[in-house]
Amino acid sequence: MRFIIFGPPGAGKGTYASRLARELKIVVISTGDIFRDEVKRNTDLGRKVAEFLNRGELVPDEIVIDVLVKKIQGMPNSKHGFILDGYPRTIEQAKALEKIAKSDAIVRLIVPEWVIVERLSNRRVCKKCGAIYNLKYLKPKKPSICDKCEGELFQREDDKPEVIRERLKVYEAQTRPLIEYYKDKLPILTIECNSPDIPPEVIVEKILQELRKANLID
Ligand code: ADP
Ligand code: ZN
Repeated sequence: MRFIIFGPPGAGKGTYASRLARELKIVVISTGDIFRDEVKRNTDLGRKVAEFLNRGELVPDEIVIDVLVKKIQGMPNSKHGFILDGYPRTIEQAKALEKIAKSDAIVRLIVPEWVIVERLSNRRVCKKCGAIYNLKYLKPKKPSICDKCEGELFQREDDKPEVIRERLKVYEAQTRPLIEYYKDKLPILTIECNSPDIPPEVIVEKILQELRKANLID
C-alpha cells in the first residue's frame, strides 16, 4: 500500500498521515519534516534549504528529488508501503517518483481557503516529538506543552501570515496542477474537509473508508 496524501498547505496532511501510518502499519515520508530536521541540525542540506522554507517557496526539484530517492532506497521496510506527505509538489517530482516506486492512489483533501488560514495560523508543533496541535481546534491539555512528551510547543516560521499567503500562491501555481496530471494515471480518492473543527479521527475514518471502497486495504 503506497499512496500520496495530497492537498494545500494546512489541509491536515501531516496530522492524518501519521495516524493513518499507525493504523496501517506503514511509514510516512514527509519531505517537509525531513527538511525541517536538516535545518534544525544545521547540516549542509539544512543550510541549503532554510531560506526556501522560511519564505514559503518550493525547494528546487533537484534537491527534493535527491532527498526522496535516498530516503526510499534507504528504507528496509519499504515493501510494506508508505504514505507520501508533501511530495510530489511539481510535475518533475511526480515523474521522478514514478521511476523509483509505483504508487497505488492519491488521497486528495479538499479544503476551503478560510479553513486553511484558520488551521495554519493557530498551528503549534512539539519541539521534541513533532506532534501537531491547534490552539483552537486541537488543543493541547496545557498551553505550550506537548500532551505526549511534555516537549515545548512552537509556531513554525512559515505559519506567519505573509508566508502562509506565499505558500498558498505557490500551491495554486505549481502543485494543484498535479491533479490534472494524475487524473488518468492513478485513482484519486477525494475527501471533503469543509470545517476547521472536524476531529482528525473522523477524517481518518473517511480516508480508510475510501481506501476500502477502492479495494486498497481490507
Ligand atoms: P505544508 O504542506 O504545510 O506547506 P510542509 O511541511 O509539507 O508544509 O512543507 C514545508 C516547506 O518545505 C515547503 O513550504 C517547502 O519550502 C519545503 N518542501 C517540502 N516538501 C517539498 C517538495 N516536495 N518540494 C519542494 N519543497 C518542499
Ligand atoms: Zn511532543
